Amino acid sequence: MADTDKTLSVAIIGAGFAGIGAAIRLRQEGITDFAIFERGDRIGGTWRDNTYPGAACDIPSRLYSYSFAPNPNWSHTYSGSDEILAYIDRMATDSGIAPHIRFGHNVTGLIYDEAAGQWTVEFEGREPVRARTVIAAPGPLSNASLPDIPGIETYEGHKIHSARWDHDYDFTGKKVAVIGTGASAVQIVPELVKTAKSVKVFQRTPGWVLPRLNRPTSGLLKQLYRTVPFAQEASRAAWFWGHESVALGVVWDTPFTRLVEQLSKANLRLQVKDPWLRRQLTPDFSAGCKRLLMTSDYYPALQADNCKLVTWPIARLAPKGIRTVEGIEHQFDAIVFATGFEVSKAGAPIPITGIGGRSLGDEWSGGAYAYRSVAVSGYPNLYFTFGPNSGPGHSSALVYMEAQINYIVEAVEKLLRLDWKALDVRPEVQARYNADIQRRLQATTWNSGCQSWYLTDDGFNATMFPGFATQYVNQLKHVDLDDYKITGYRDPSAMAPGAESAGDLVSVQ
Ligand code: NAP
Repeated sequence: MADTDKTLSVAIIGAGFAGIGAAIRLRQEGITDFAIFERGDRIGGTWRDNTYPGAACDIPSRLYSYSFAPNPNWSHTYSGSDEILAYIDRMATDSGIAPHIRFGHNVTGLIYDEAAGQWTVEFEGREPVRARTVIAAPGPLSNASLPDIPGIETYEGHKIHSARWDHDYDFTGKKVAVIGTGASAVQIVPELVKTAKSVKVFQRTPGWVLPRLNRPTSGLLKQLYRTVPFAQEASRAAWFWGHESVALGVVWDTPFTRLVEQLSKANLRLQVKDPWLRRQLTPDFSAGCKRLLMTSDYYPALQADNCKLVTWPIARLAPKGIRTVEGIEHQFDAIVFATGFEVSKAGAPIPITGIGGRSLGDEWSGGAYAYRSVAVSGYPNLYFTFGPNSGPGHSSALVYMEAQINYIVEAVEKLLRLDWKALDVRPEVQARYNADIQRRLQATTWNSGCQSWYLTDDGFNATMFPGFATQYVNQLKHVDLDDYKITGYRDPSAMAPGAESAGDLVSVQ
């Protein structure tokens, strides 16, 4: 039967790490009536999109994977994008969820039908679908954006965004600019200097850099992980607690932050001998305020004969290249924009209409908020992965994602099994939670004065979770039904055609 003919139990938006993980966990709980709607033609989300040379994860693979899908075969401590993508593919195949994926389905809106307790999922150029619950897993970094630099449209050379790499373009012998010095740029630059004739890196703000000690995993160790699952769990736990200890210096501005800065400065002194270059590469904000850069080959690449760091601010782009404010025009065959993503910190990622026609975009216009990052009052049966204030600054996104998924699947399973119409977070519970989150954020490095994609232009932090990963995971361990208003199917005639049953007509709490 086509998805349009019936009401799905669960609609999942996005077939990235989160969407695939949610689908696997649903199946493990015996829920099979779901579809994953993916706008692209392949699964993998950010790891499908970020295929730039050198693309890799700066979190150890043992921790950058799901605990319910351990992989004993990671080739290195830190894996490259190909290996991570292969891991996602394998999970989808092995778990049997692949047939649930609908490619080419770009979700353009969600509308809640209060009478039926169902969501209408709207698509670009396709018939809408109805679902009792929705898991929105579009990914926070899915929309690559070119920066708002004057004259960008006048540049006549080749433009490439880090997250939309043009593999047909041959950099051999080319004069190349890289704009940006964030987590993507520090992986791209060492690869580009190997092939390009020259590379100029345009830096606006230097980041704190720590070495990334990447080692191949021996065959013996892989064998151990394969045969003794506990060894793999212990290794993951060691990485987890190692990262938790880093929170002390990265999440909050503490004496440990100074220690991280001293370590980073020692790394800079070790790798960069020229005092002027060192000065240009020394940050003037607290470590952790922006994402730490984990790389051992960025500083050496910057000092390659064919590479140059440019710290003069960019005035505009011109037909042949980049003009900096002191009046020099740097000419290039290609410009690589490692300038990040359009991150939805205010407004909703897509138009979402909840109870009584309320609009999530309007409610989030001053900055997004949710209950425990996953649910929003007034929008029942809708759950977000990587929702507001769910970002880790010191640990693996996958640890946070797994906690979200487990919580969401528990809520969905309860609603379906008990045949409730709606599970809606109580507004006062949500307000209390967010007041606490914003109060705690004041003491964090992210709110200590630098500008980053974590903050809105007004300095509102809708992105990061102000605490240890352990605290984040613990708050999502169980769905506390006291936090929710539960609605049953009071009036069976309110059921939409195709819904499975009218339920027990449970009373409204
Ligand atoms: P990003 O961290 O947002 O960095 C963008 C860079 O571009 C910054 O250096 C920024 O300078 C610069 N920039 C932006 N607009 C500019 C302009 N108009 N003129 C000059 N410079 C400009 O983006 P990203 O490096 O793509 O990383 C985004 C996120 O992706 C990371 O925070 C991380 O969460 C994720 N990521 C993860 C990994 C991993 O290994 N796990 C790897 C890559 C990316 P300012 O600093 O001055 O704003």
